[in-house]
Amino acid sequence: MTASASSMISVDEARDRILAFFGRLPAERRPVLDALGQVLAEDIVAPFDIPPLNNTAMDGYAVRAADTAGASAASPVELTVVADLAAGYVLETAVGAGQAVRIMTGAPIPPGADAVVPFEETDEPLRGVGEAPARGSKVRVFKAAEPSANVRFRGEDVAQGQVVIPAGRVVRPSEVGVLASLGVVEAPVYRRPVVAILSTGDEITVPGEPLLPGRIYDSNAYSVGAQVRKLGGIPRLLGIARDTVEDLTAKIREGLDADMLVTSAGVSRGDFDVVKDVLAREGAIDFWSVRMRPGKPLAFGAFEAPGGRKVPHLGLPGNPVSSMVSFELFGRPAIFKMLGRSDWERPMVRAITRDRVRNSDGRRFFARCIVTRGDDGRWYASLTGPQGSGMLTSMSAANGLAVIPEDTPEALPGDEIGVIMLDWEHAP
Ligand code: AMP
Ligand code: MG
Repeated sequence: MTASASSMISVDEARDRILAFFGRLPAERRPVLDALGQVLAEDIVAPFDIPPLNNTAMDGYAVRAADTAGASAASPVELTVVADLAAGYVLETAVGAGQAVRIMTGAPIPPGADAVVPFEETDEPLRGVGEAPARGSKVRVFKAAEPSANVRFRGEDVAQGQVVIPAGRVVRPSEVGVLASLGVVEAPVYRRPVVAILSTGDEITVPGEPLLPGRIYDSNAYSVGAQVRKLGGIPRLLGIARDTVEDLTAKIREGLDADMLVTSAGVSRGDFDVVKDVLAREGAIDFWSVRMRPGKPLAFGAFEAPGGRKVPHLGLPGNPVSSMVSFELFGRPAIFKMLGRSDWERPMVRAITRDRVRNSDGRRFFARCIVTRGDDGRWYASLTGPQGSGMLTSMSAANGLAVIPEDTPEALPGDEIGVIMLDWEHAP
């Protein structure tokens, strides 16, 4: 890739070009809880059966089902209680004819027994709390048990040798639980990408510092850092580079041990040339004009780290909304690809717009909107107000991005539009 003059390309072409650069990162072993959101690099094979033994699904009495034949409230069957068995213990002695073992949920079914009568179907509830029947006393059973009643069978959840979770699966809380249930301490997963984030511009100030006249606080590093973290990457904030060759060059070099470098600002046509110059000289960068709004200017290329490794660089536009939307469209798929995920396409809903949305300049317009379900069960989208690309609050108020295609000059109230859902959980 070489520095070249701006040329207008489509969102899809920009994404294809960027994605071609990325691949899955190497696998590592991570404590199962930390692997949340990462992708399994190997099949997870069960080393044993789950459950490991036949056990009871209820608190009750383990019995021989045949002994309870004909039992009813009017004519209960009386059995002799020979033991009391808590979960976590195994009874070696067999349950003989006319005998029962008081047993707690999860405890292994003792030999000889083939069913469990729940407490509710015995005289157990008639006893006071904490008054377990003494060994040798009688329990009355009010209902006949079918063989296997309330028995959970060895291996019914997972059989030894079975692939329980296939390679390629994203680790969610349920996978974390399954891994733990198999005794796995560290899961084989593809490494999380480290994303170095650099803000540029003489006017940008770190939150916490006093704000001098004409300056603004750095929001891009934080919003993009949060996007990275939410997607499963590891953000590393490099701070702010002043618009000087020395500072920019030094800060960029600090980011070259990352898997990806993201800069913001300094890529638009009117920008002070230092940023573009340094980006072009230090790496092989293309400056693109992407047919989208917000966020037309975009840079993409690679820096060479010491040792020759190529570090991909995504140069986001400076405007806070443009920077977030561009990262959503181009950074998100890159992070997913490095994580080993192929499901980077967000779910889209078809929603009815309540507002008129104008899109007269032939670009793909991503309008910040709030999607809610109407009383008629359909999805409705309302714009979050003024759509200036500097107005970050329009992003904060949104849960979706309405996509108005390049060739659609306007959508009218009542029209159906496609919305990329950024957030299903929160309708602000
Ligand atoms: P530029 O791309 O440098 O022309 O910046 C475009 C606009 O984005 C300007 O108004 C900048 O002040 C603003 N901007 C640039 N960087 C940041 C940042 N890190 N946080 C918030 N706003 C920024
Ligand atoms: Mg600037």
